[in-house]
Amino acid sequence: MAGDDEVVYERSMVAGKLPAGSPSGIALPGRPGLLVVVGTPIGNLGDLSPRAVQALERADVIACEDTRRTRQLLSHAGIRGAAFTSLYAHNEAAKAPALVEQMASGATVAIVSDAGMPAISDPGSLLIRAAIDAGIRVTAVPGPSAALSALIVSGFDTSRFVFEGFLPRKGPERRRQLALLAVETRTAVLFESARRVGDTLKDLCQICGRERRVAVARELTKVHEEIWRADLASLCCTVDELTQLGELVIVLEGAPPQTPGAPDDSDVGAMMARLLQQGASTKEAAAAVAAALGVPRRRAYELAPKVL
Ligand code: SAM
Repeated sequence: MAGDDEVVYERSMVAGKLPAGSPSGIALPGRPGLLVVVGTPIGNLGDLSPRAVQALERADVIACEDTRRTRQLLSHAGIRGAAFTSLYAHNEAAKAPALVEQMASGATVAIVSDAGMPAISDPGSLLIRAAIDAGIRVTAVPGPSAALSALIVSGFDTSRFVFEGFLPRKGPERRRQLALLAVETRTAVLFESARRVGDTLKDLCQICGRERRVAVARELTKVHEEIWRADLASLCCTVDELTQLGELVIVLEGAPPQTPGAPDDSDVGAMMARLLQQGASTKEAAAAVAAALGVPRRRAYELAPKVL
């Protein structure tokens, strides 16, 4: 299978490669270009795959989040003379059309983020979408992702899972997403910073209950990798040890499946109470509970005075 894959990849590269002597990125019209989405290590440089090195070597231009960081990676891989362009959250929309134009002219563009897979809580989605819309072939060189690595080492059910990225830091949207997590039966994967993990674990504990199990995977693939597995209440108590510098992922075990039938007033009231305790207004809590439990907003609203 690996051999077949290589052939397909090579063929694309040949089709997208510039004739000798052409300036990089400017190719003959009518030659199909290519966008290669390249995964890079999330901490351990040994995870840079040979295919990733090959794709970066062969690209006419590498779109990267931080040119300094990608230069270091390329220097580690012994790649010299690459052409870079920076592509980060605040310039991706503005830069995508020019990159698509280069690809439409035959160039091969590789996209990398600072670490892991581009487009997973990282830049990349806009360029990928724009390339697809322009009829450019898009391929991936899969690499490490903190989300999947954390999910796997959590030990929770991996047969179905949801990726939440970073929760909003505050406000009604954060409360709505927390309320949805309280009833989510699939394993949930959340990115978080070490500085904010304490607040997020406390909020999860309040809304999902003390017994819900959670794993926190910190510094994956690095020398100080640690995986914490406990119930939410216990982990909240040891949170000071987690809030050191470093990168981490929270993996939340899914909620037990709901008993068949519509949620009764005690389910609705309990969730309203938890959200009101977290500082939600009655209106915000009712909206979040309605979305999470699939009940009319008015019913949740009317229960508020009884649970206060
Ligand atoms: N695109 C990346 C990926 O596929 O892994 C994720 C980028 S996102 C901006 C960065 C977040 O990923 C961090 O805040 C942290 O939650 C998680 N992360 C990245 N590297 C990590 C590591 N080595 N260990 C644990 N979490 C990590």
